[in-house]
Amino acid sequence: MVGPVSSEAGLRADIVEVGRRLYARGYTASNDGNISVRLDAGRLLMTPTSVCKGFMAPEMMCITDLDGRKLAGDRDPSSEMQMHLEVYRRRPDVQAVVHAHPPTATGFAVAGIPLDRAVLAEVVTTLGSVPIAEYATPSTKELPEAVRQYVQAHDGMLLANHGALTLGKDLFSAYYKMETIEHFAKISLVARLLGGERVLSREEVFRLQDLRGRYGIAAPAPICTDPAPGDPAECQVVRAPSAPGQRLVSDHEAFRGGPDPRGLVPGLLRPGASPADAEIRLTYGELTALIEDAVRHLK
Ligand SMILES: [Zn+2]
Repeated sequence: MVGPVSSEAGLRADIVEVGRRLYARGYTASNDGNISVRLDAGRLLMTPTSVCKGFMAPEMMCITDLDGRKLAGDRDPSSEMQMHLEVYRRRPDVQAVVHAHPPTATGFAVAGIPLDRAVLAEVVTTLGSVPIAEYATPSTKELPEAVRQYVQAHDGMLLANHGALTLGKDLFSAYYKMETIEHFAKISLVARLLGGERVLSREEVFRLQDLRGRYGIAAPAPICTDPAPGDPAECQVVRAPSAPGQRLVSDHEAFRGGPDPRGLVPGLLRPGASPADAEIRLTYGELTALIEDAVRHLK
């Protein structure tokens, strides 16, 4: 799919601008990060290696083919080029890719906490869940492999112990998704510091999903509330309870085990799955109560 035709000069200027914004907002330090955009069906325009993204000039960019062979430019293409190529090969709809190390989102990536809770309406409608691709050494072929399993279903992802990656139908939409991820991470961090996030209900998530069409936001990047059986890694779920006010873990599930007699299941348990497959989160108080209960039964 070829998007609106933009001139090469315009795209070079846009990469410079996106780089300037990434650096100004502290999403990259030193020479971190990289940006690329499709020039046409067979060529990419991308940032060169070893330059600060805040101080680029339009003539610095490299042109490569989809196998990463340099076609034009004085400098070598980004050391993370393979990760970009992997995205373009798997997502013909994607026109641009942005990679940066925004500190709060990267903190979540370092802590191993995906941004997958249905907390903010605008995130549910634009990005869905933001999974974490497993750690791979930057610049190696393991990094595109780690990214591969998520690119089909997600427009934004965290890279474990590294940073974040966003894709878009044009350069600025990929960049804005990076802003959204970092903004979401900051809000999520504050909510967790203040005692925890109150997640939106599953019903509300479905309603927001329906609104995506009206906003002109098309799939892919679905909000996956029901991942394909046997392939959960391809599409991490948005965590939301199935009714307003319901907790992700019912008291029955947490304290007595087994399915809840009222039919309540933890929000992230897909329909038809066994409760044994569910992940649960307990507070220290709940954990203590569980252990005390178990000890009482032993006596
Ligand atoms: Zn990086």
